[in-house]
Amino acid sequence: MSVGCGNRSIGSGGRGRGGGGDSGGGVCEDEVYAPEITYLSLCDYPGEPAIVIFFSGCNYRCGYCQNWKIREQERPHLARIDRIERILEGGKMVTACKVTGGEPLLQLGALMRIARKAKSLGYKFGIDTNGSFPERLSAMLPMLDLVSIDVKTALNEPEYTKVTGVDHPMVSRVVESIRAALASCAFVDLRMVVIPGVNDRLEIARSIGEDLGRLGYREKASAGGACFTLAEFVPENAGSREYAAMRNPSVDELVKLAEALQLPNVRITHRALGHCVSMEKIRS
Ligand code: SF4
Repeated sequence: MSVGCGNRSIGSGGRGRGGGGDSGGGVCEDEVYAPEITYLSLCDYPGEPAIVIFFSGCNYRCGYCQNWKIREQERPHLARIDRIERILEGGKMVTACKVTGGEPLLQLGALMRIARKAKSLGYKFGIDTNGSFPERLSAMLPMLDLVSIDVKTALNEPEYTKVTGVDHPMVSRVVESIRAALASCAFVDLRMVVIPGVNDRLEIARSIGEDLGRLGYREKASAGGACFTLAEFVPENAGSREYAAMRNPSVDELVKLAEALQLPNVRITHRALGHCVSMEKIRS
């Protein structure tokens, strides 16, 4: 488990001023496929107002994807990295920076450069990842305060193929990423979007709970360093017609899955709840 992380948690510390290997398809080193930036988000970095940068390109094809418009890297998405650095320098009322996507680790060189800049300005820094690039994630981990990794379904190839839409999702690499993240000093947010009829069977939740237990989740979560979030699938935002025709799960269904996980520090996000609610609160 993580050693030498002190008492750092996702809500600790604060921002004080002062303080390569891409698969970008021929992009020059001063550019990055980053079509969107949110200058102030109150919901993307837990407990911190954040700048959110969207990198385009992804190696998975999840039917439920709500960012499907940026799954491909297209020339109009190219942005100069020095422009992003200037935006970070001018950030007002923000204490954190998060890079999401798409899959941010596809553009590791640009990601590292932005992380270095953000950290030098005193921002907390986090990324979202699908977990399929464990070596790149390990290279980033010393710079990360937060890493959110998708746990799309049970951690085996047949179930992962169903959700990711690719023939070889290489789930062993996702497992490796989760193991590395849980052993790091970063806060780890594992997230599963629950899609009725696809990944909502109780046996799937039980199997995820057992696997995460073996990977060290319980110890890190009990020390306040990790959480598992079950998120409502929102058909209206889905990239595929098939998924757009499906229904969303109810709060009760999410609660049953949360119980089946048998893990500490589990949260639920659902529009009917208004925001992210811990299972402790739901039970009380
Ligand atoms: S949900 Fe995430 S991993 Fe899946 S296709 Fe969309 S961006 Fe990629």
